[in-house]
Amino acid sequence: MSQDLRDIVRAEFEQAFGTTPAGVWSSPGRANLIGEHTDYNDGFVLPFAIDRRTFAAVGLRDDARIRVGSTFSDEIAEIALDELSPDVVSGWAGYPLGVVWALGQLGHADLAAVPGLDIMLESDVPVGAGLSSSAAIEGAVAFAIDELWRLGLDRVQLARVGRTAENEFVGAPTGIMDQMASLLGRDDSAVFIDCRTQEATAVDLGLAEHDLTILVIDTQVEHAHASGGYRERRASCEAGAAALGVPALRDVTVDDLPRAKELLDDVTFRRVRHIVTENQRVLDTVETLRTQGPRAIGELLDASHRSMRDDFEISVPELDLAVETAQAAGAIGARMTGGGFGGSAIALVPRELVSRLQVAVDGAFAEHGYGQPVTFTVTPSEGARREV
Ligand code: ADP
Ligand code: MG
Repeated sequence: MSQDLRDIVRAEFEQAFGTTPAGVWSSPGRANLIGEHTDYNDGFVLPFAIDRRTFAAVGLRDDARIRVGSTFSDEIAEIALDELSPDVVSGWAGYPLGVVWALGQLGHADLAAVPGLDIMLESDVPVGAGLSSSAAIEGAVAFAIDELWRLGLDRVQLARVGRTAENEFVGAPTGIMDQMASLLGRDDSAVFIDCRTQEATAVDLGLAEHDLTILVIDTQVEHAHASGGYRERRASCEAGAAALGVPALRDVTVDDLPRAKELLDDVTFRRVRHIVTENQRVLDTVETLRTQGPRAIGELLDASHRSMRDDFEISVPELDLAVETAQAAGAIGARMTGGGFGGSAIALVPRELVSRLQVAVDGAFAEHGYGQPVTFTVTPSEGARREV
């Protein structure tokens, strides 16, 4: 698949721009193993890069213009480097162009002095399934430009560039997790991120050795109130931290919860309890992976789902059904992943049970009259890289 996309994106580039690209770079989507909504609370997350990638064929130009194309759209977006601003670009082109703008904004490049670019994108990261097709674009484009403009930035700096593009250019209020996972992923590893210090460490997953895989169950449900729900949860977390007198919920521990229960209203308390226990579950998952291996983390995944369902209230019936069905069909653990209100669940599964799980989930969805889910396995993979 990857080989094909590499060739396709080159051909698309040549067709659209009439020249040969300087190279092809790629960066993956990501799934979050555990640690949901903890990122904006200065907490911990444990995502991994997946084996679905966005490819960017990129070439330098003689002038100061940028053109961006994608197999996503028939249109080529074109703009002068010195005209880049969040107000003048909308739609998908905001992701790649936002990266260029962010490089200027963060002082990494002088946009008045660098050469223009032609960029063509191709991807097999599903869009809007909670697998961060947006960070995959940002990662591929940032990694490519870093090399072509000889900026010498490290992967963490490039992740910050992607986040700045997404937050300030596209206008999506997300944490740093997606970009860090896309840039720093490694084969058969997760990326443990402390969102306060932005320190990242690779954690060996050992899935290959234990003959395990991760099944993504994309419910295909997209709830209209997802962004409103996200804002509301963020506000609850901020209110909870303020009431408890801490800078962020990262500073609250499981031992503090009885006191929090006395101080907070029921809803705020349950929001806080999710974040506090989820942070602990991330730490416990890292520790368990190191000491006992992946077969021992199932209960932590299951507990994470219950916490999101009951305390944070961001699950939907389709996600709950996916998780319960996966658990009943032999998954070691399962949970919804991503922001919630739709999107995907993941299940940690012995490889030989994958098709049994897929059949079980399809059957359960049909029985409940839900639309057919899309299920596929993902393999924890390498982050951004140059392809050719
Ligand atoms: P996700 O969970 O997939 O990251 P987002 O809403 O954050 O969802 O980002 C999806 C958006 O990214 C799409 O609506 C589109 O604007 C852009 N996008 C994703 N993949 C591509 C692609 N291959 N080409 C162009 N734009 C893309
Ligand atoms: Mg995204």
